[in-house]
This record gives sequence, structure tokens and C-alpha cells, in this order.
Amino acid sequence: MLLRLPTSVSEAQECMAQGAVPIGGATLVWATWQRDGFPELAMSLRELPEASVVGPEELGAAVVLHHMNGRVPEVLRGAAGTVGTGAVRRTATVGGNLVGSSLRCLLPAALVLDARARVLGPEGAYETDLPEVVAKRHLLLGLRWRTPLASGYRKQHAEAGGPPPLVVATAVHAEDGGPRRLRVAVRDGYDVLDGSAPCHADADEVFDLLRRTDLGALPPGARDVVREQVAGILDSLAER
Ligand SMILES: Cc1cc2nc3c(=O)[nH]c(=O)nc-3n(C[C@H](O)[C@H](O)[C@H](O)COP(=O)(O)OP(=O)(O)OC[C@H]3O[C@@H](n4cnc5c(N)ncnc54)[C@H](O)[C@@H]3O)c2cc1C
Repeated sequence: MLLRLPTSVSEAQECMAQGAVPIGGATLVWATWQRDGFPELAMSLRELPEASVVGPEELGAAVVLHHMNGRVPEVLRGAAGTVGTGAVRRTATVGGNLVGSSLRCLLPAALVLDARARVLGPEGAYETDLPEVVAKRHLLLGLRWRTPLASGYRKQHAEAGGPPPLVVATAVHAEDGGPRRLRVAVRDGYDVLDGSAPCHADADEVFDLLRRTDLGALPPGARDVVREQVAGILDSLAER
């Protein structure tokens, strides 16, 4: 297997055109490749500046989960900090998690930030939304978002070998000329649901508005956790 390390978007595009398979930390693909055989050509984005950035409003796809520090919003940091084991977090990347894993703990966090994805296609780099990236498994270069007023992340305890634990991500955004808006995204099993509501009312009213979105389909246990998270983030804003 030849591993290419493009240093520019046009070089990455060239690798793509040659059929290079994207690789992050190889935490998922290694075992499969050992069993089924290695591809002839692979490419890692770790030398590509755009894919390696960590900032308050941007995150590169080649960034290792362990390197997501205080510069990114709390909700993303919380999501990255609870993925797998320390060994996995020191190797696995943002792109591998969002596009390549079935658990995608980062996805609810990125959804509540209303993040836009920058991807590379045969015609060049462009922006799109996260559901499309996940559905079409685009080559992800990175994410961009606007800093929220507050954000939070909760992952329920998981039994080893059991179903994926419930994840609830929240973020409150300032809206131009309007009331603040609360976004909530939940991973229940392997499904990710999200919804948003204006937060001009008290926590119970906001929760009732959220129940009229896709989040209304959640089972009662998950809804209780959402209610607690909604109350928590609204309280934290009120105290400021
Ligand atoms: C023990 C263990 C526990 C785990 N626990 C969790 C957990 O709690 N929550 C969770 O969310 N995940 C969990 N995972 C999955 C983990 O997040 C993934 O292993 C990891 O995110 C894959 O990242 P990687 O960089 O190693 O990807 P790789 O193994 O390198 O690649 C995986 C797939 O993603 C594709 N890919 C890689 N980068 C890109 C890109 N930039 N654009 C498009 N496609 C790309 C590859 O082509 C490949 O198909 C766990 C994994 C292990 C091994």
C-alpha cells in the first residue's frame, strides 16, 4: 500500500482522482485491511493545513480526538473526550469518527453547533451540511460553525457489549434580531434526531416546543434526559 500525504487541496484532489482511500488514524480500517487485504493507494490528510486546524470556529478532519482542546466549544470537547478509550482517542480522527464510524459521537455535537462541512469532490472543495456528508460519505476536510453562547454534552453510562449509550448535545445560539435559539441533538441507539426551539420561555415551555420537533419521537427515558439537559443549559445562561 502506498500512503500519500497531500499538502494542498489540489494535491488531495489528485490523490482522490487516482482512487486513494482516505485514512484517519486507521483504528477502524486496520483490522478489516489485515483480513481482506490492503488498498493499493491510501491518503492521510494530516499534512494538509486545512484538515489539521483546531480553532474556536473550525476543526480539521485530520485532527486527532485527543487534540481537541479548550479552543473548541465545550460540546465538541465533551463528545471527543468520551469516545472509546484513551488509546482510541490518541489515534482516531474527526473525519474517521463522523464519516467512518457507526457510533459517531461527534455528530450530535456538530449538529447543535449548526456546523457546515467542507468536503472535497471531483470538481474541488465545497460546503455542505452534515447529514449529506454522513449519507454520501464525502471526503471531509473540516467543519466550521459560529461560536454558541453556551453548549453541553452528556453521554449516558454504557455496559460493555451493550447497545450504544444515549447521547444528548445542546447549544444555545444568538439569532440576529430574534430570540436565542436552543438546538438539541440526541443519539438514541444508532439514530440521531435533532430539533430546535426559541428560548424566550422557561425550561418547561422550551421542552414542550422541542417535543413538537423530531425529538418528540424519543422514548420517555431519553426525553427525561433531554429535559434535564435543557433545564441545565438554560440555568447556566440565566446565571451569567
Ligand atoms: C475500542 C473502540 C471504542 C470506540 N468507541 C467509540 C465511541 O464511544 N464513540 C464513537 O463515536 N466511536 C467510537 N469508536 C469508533 C472510533 O470513533 C473510530 O474508531 C474512529 O473515529 C475512526 O477514526 P479513524 O480516524 O481511526 O478512522 P479510520 O479507521 O482511519 O477510517 C475509518 C473510515 O473513515 C473513513 N475516513 C477517514 N477519514 C475520512 C475523511 N476525512 N473523510 C471521509 N472519510 C474518512 C475511512 O476511509 C474509513 O472508511 C470506537 C472504536 C474503538 C476501536
